[in-house]
Amino acid sequence: MEKIIIVGGGFAGLNVARQLFKNKNYEVTLVDKNNYNYFTPLLYQVATGFLDPSSISYPFRKLFRNKGIKFRLAEVIKVDPARQTLYLNDGELTYDHLVFAAGAKTNFFGNEGIREKAISLKGIDDALYMRNELIKTMEKAAIEKDPAERKKFMTIVITGGGPTGVEVAGMLAEMRKHILEKDYPELKRAEGEIYIVDGHPFLLAPMSDKTHEGTYKALTQLRVRIKLSTHVESFENDQIKFSDGEVIEAKTLIWAAGITAHTFEGIPVGSLGAGKRMITDVYNQVKGLRNIYAIGDISIQETDPVYPQGHPQVAQVAIQQGYRLAKNLLAMAKNKPLKPFKYFDRGDMAIVGRHHAVADLFKHKVHLNGFLGLMSWLFIHLISLVNYNNKIKTFYHWAVAYTTKDQALRMIFRAGNRGS
Ligand SMILES: Cc1cc2nc3c(=O)[nH]c(=O)nc-3n(C[C@H](O)[C@H](O)[C@H](O)COP(=O)(O)OP(=O)(O)OC[C@H]3O[C@@H](n4cnc5c(N)ncnc54)[C@H](O)[C@@H]3O)c2cc1C
Repeated sequence: MEKIIIVGGGFAGLNVARQLFKNKNYEVTLVDKNNYNYFTPLLYQVATGFLDPSSISYPFRKLFRNKGIKFRLAEVIKVDPARQTLYLNDGELTYDHLVFAAGAKTNFFGNEGIREKAISLKGIDDALYMRNELIKTMEKAAIEKDPAERKKFMTIVITGGGPTGVEVAGMLAEMRKHILEKDYPELKRAEGEIYIVDGHPFLLAPMSDKTHEGTYKALTQLRVRIKLSTHVESFENDQIKFSDGEVIEAKTLIWAAGITAHTFEGIPVGSLGAGKRMITDVYNQVKGLRNIYAIGDISIQETDPVYPQGHPQVAQVAIQQGYRLAKNLLAMAKNKPLKPFKYFDRGDMAIVGRHHAVADLFKHKVHLNGFLGLMSWLFIHLISLVNYNNKIKTFYHWAVAYTTKDQALRMIFRAGNRGS
């Protein structure tokens, strides 16, 4: 039986595996450096203490129970296409078909100073780190006597005006409004600002003009300071310097400004395109390599005339590519013709604070704003969670947060230490 190895169990990799559940043609192994799948669109709610990590994650071994899919917990380091061998941090695996679905990582654009000090948000570990850091910063502010120093603790700059940046900014502004003074009476009337900064002239730049306006208005009403057509240049000694020359004092910089694909030794440079993404044809086969495929954020397909620069790095592309590749692998086993990948854009959405969400659906033909946007955002995110266990937990946490304007998940959990 031929062996398929899937590297990464995010939206793309998991959707390949799902189509191959109980298949009789291939022995399938999914390799991931984490032992769980997680739902990135709600990471910011874990990072701000509105959801617990288990609401948006689920162990692979349980997902694959009785489904005929093997799981291997390991980090993939290198591939040798000539020997059809994949090298892991703790061993090696041979394959007949190899699927790269390892996604992307935060891009700091070579700025080491920012990489060392900023907080980023790509996985559950990052979300827990952000939650701990935000709470620790508030605890330090609560005991700080010097008002100027306290203001630095209370000032947060978020770089990146995409959905993650906008959603984090909205959530932090809501917490400042409804929770801060209840949890920290010491911080009543303490000064501090929440900034969101983006290099584009609009927040949520790829979305419609109506969305740009709605987002700007909703964040301004929440007293978020918005700086557009501006970059963060440096973050040193509690000073954040912007490209327009302004310098502000702050202890916290949240970086949601860009991504770059994961890369692997053994993949020739000629197979990589913009953002280090692996270039593929319409069947997701990597340029210049036999039986190696790439899907989701790690890949780029420049053959679709609607997306000449490649498809957007979003969950829907990853899900649809995973589905199509799995169907093609099954077709290959039966010597049936393959179908090219065609992206169906269902639209984009983002939530801005507690009461407001924006959505551009069906190629910007339908625009939802405010409460209607919020209801569609809640519904779509809830049904997209990986199983009923996560849906029920998330729904419960949302119901509590909405009715009480609060949530009780603001604990600092640190990694364990023997003897502590
Ligand atoms: C905070 C945040 C919010 C987002 N919000 C939205 C949204 O609202 N809507 C939307 O459409 N998109 C959103 N996205 C983008 C979306 O998450 C990605 O487009 C999508 O996850 C891509 O799927 P993927 O399977 O290619 O990669 P991922 O989902 O990132 O999965 C990659 C998997 O590979 C594993 N992996 C990585 N490297 C290795 C290695 N060396 N060895 C083994 N395993 C490895 C990882 O552990 C992970 O499980 C968001 C992303 C982030 C970070």
